[in-house]
Amino acid sequence: MQFYELREPDYSTDQLHNRANPIRMIEEYSVPGILCPVCTEETGGGWASSDRVRVDIPDDTLLQPVLSGQSLPPAEWKKVRDRIRTELNVPAYMRITPGAAIGLPRAELLQPDVQQIVHPFPGQLIVRDTVVYALEQARLTGFQPVPVIAEWGMKAQRLVAEDPPLLYELCISGHAWRVGFDEERITTCHMCGRKLFPDPHWLEVDQNRWDGSDFFTVDMNPNIVLVTDRVCHILADAGFGNYRCVPIATS
Ligand SMILES: [Zn+2]
Repeated sequence: MQFYELREPDYSTDQLHNRANPIRMIEEYSVPGILCPVCTEETGGGWASSDRVRVDIPDDTLLQPVLSGQSLPPAEWKKVRDRIRTELNVPAYMRITPGAAIGLPRAELLQPDVQQIVHPFPGQLIVRDTVVYALEQARLTGFQPVPVIAEWGMKAQRLVAEDPPLLYELCISGHAWRVGFDEERITTCHMCGRKLFPDPHWLEVDQNRWDGSDFFTVDMNPNIVLVTDRVCHILADAGFGNYRCVPIATS
């Protein structure tokens, strides 16, 4: 099976990148950081994952002061993580990790022209409703579209009269491991669960440990999205722009 990395195109300048992806994500809350006695020194005072926990945070939740609050020692942190999982009904596939963004996706759109696929951050896919429709029609798996609460930025607002387009964040629920890697091997600290992703450009998937999803991450790294050729075909057939499907080398 040939897999592909779904990523942004190669823009020749930062300006072109910004023009193609005129979006600023607004993260109001985050999972508290962890004060790990083992690796705080090594990481220079804590670390934060780039996971995104896309659940609604009700105004009346008792967790609200904890989110974006102070970093916590490991035992206390694990209690808070378990409370977040239960009280906010976080689906099993969403990892709750120190410093992860939490809450529904919110975005400011900086230009009136918003492409079908937008890349605010590596591995983060914000798409128009037409893309979600095409993926769902084709019964592709391994993603959950979560509606983005979008508003125009000041400059864009002066140029358009209509409401912002319907946008979704594609939360990736599929998972696989790279050949030779497992949770034990990538966990660098057992006290706080800090993980590494060695050889980031080497993405060979162990097909026996791929859950069969069309969209998936590898080795619990949210910054890289891999897809099947079905995804590449659907996106290409629909004529969507502003992405690349880069074939993964296999040995
Ligand atoms: Zn640690």
